[in-house]
Amino acid sequence: MKTTLPLERFKQLRTPFYYYDTRILRETLKVISDEMRALGNCEVHYAVKANANPKLLPIISSYGLGADCVSGGEIEAALKSGFPADKIVFAGVGKADWEINLALDNDIFCFNVESVPELEIINELAASKGKTASVAFRINPDVGAHTHANITTGLAENKFGINMDDMEGIIARAMALDHVHFVGLHFHIGSQILDLDADFLPLCERINALQDQLESRGVRVENINVGGGLGVDYDHPEQHLIPDFKAYMSMFAKHLQLRPWQTLHFEPGRSIVAQCGSLISRVLYVKQSANKQFAIIDAGMTELIRPALYQAHHFIENLTSNEETEIYDVVGPICESSDLFGRDERLPRVRRGDLIALRSSGAYGEAMASTYNCRALPKSYILEDLI
Ligand SMILES: *Cc1c(COP(=O)(O)O)cnc(C)c1O
Repeated sequence: MKTTLPLERFKQLRTPFYYYDTRILRETLKVISDEMRALGNCEVHYAVKANANPKLLPIISSYGLGADCVSGGEIEAALKSGFPADKIVFAGVGKADWEINLALDNDIFCFNVESVPELEIINELAASKGKTASVAFRINPDVGAHTHANITTGLAENKFGINMDDMEGIIARAMALDHVHFVGLHFHIGSQILDLDADFLPLCERINALQDQLESRGVRVENINVGGGLGVDYDHPEQHLIPDFKAYMSMFAKHLQLRPWQTLHFEPGRSIVAQCGSLISRVLYVKQSANKQFAIIDAGMTELIRPALYQAHHFIENLTSNEETEIYDVVGPICESSDLFGRDERLPRVRRGDLIALRSSGAYGEAMASTYNCRALPKSYILEDLI
């Protein structure tokens, strides 16, 4: 499979814009739903925060996936896009009362609870509606993900989750409350994880130990949710358009000691949408300085903040030049030195007006866009809009 980039149509459009190849997205979703079927007793909840584009969400829900939401707005977007309420999970360390009420009113599948005070507020709000909320506890497994420090979430020092030592206490607290019902354990150790053995095997071992501990106390765990975090190949997107979901999902099924009554849940975000998206931009100027040349493009950190925020690198392509390559620093127009997409990039000779693609921008691109510098949020197009 190859990415379709309808260049002649791109030339007619105002830049910058996001472009999504829905054929890639559909093929990715097909691989996931095949693997779900192969494993059985398994559910996949798409992490909406990676990309909540209203043209993409209905495609994702149509493949039988649920939604992992981290805000009331995401719950609303998921419901509007066809995700069934009983396949919505709600995570986050700081759920506001209105968000909890929204989730209760819609009877979502489960709250992934991150603290005792949160548990008590959910119980209180559920009681006032005469309902019982299903809760899973997000446990911080103190397992490091070998990824960028800003996207590791499963270490004891991170703000996320409940300490393992406090797990039994909070489960006992839940059992004592009338309007919450304990349904499972939740974990999410970080993002852009490429070494499955180094990061996810220790997680499996930790989960097995915690399960045994709970079972010895007579606590039955219905659901095990291992979160998201599967990484993508940002350096060679075209060679690895579809992440290896089979290896990823089957390794959990193999290494977790799942009980026959348990359902295994995944929450991938990035790995579903990253590779189908590109940020398309035009070159404004080529600027020469003493020992550098800069390709200044009309997209910046306002449209794709990952390089500035996580020192991430996206594969950069000049779509409109076949000339000899030269070396450029590719930068945006925003008044920040961190507004830089690549240093010493080798690109076919760049001229004003050339179209530049920043590849693998489907995850945490549009979703993190801002209006800094009074810039307008850009448009987005899917393949069907352009052919
Ligand atoms: C962000 C997040 C995810 C998705 O992470 P990816 O790395 O995009 O797969 C899943 N679960 C939770 C709780 C998250 O916060």
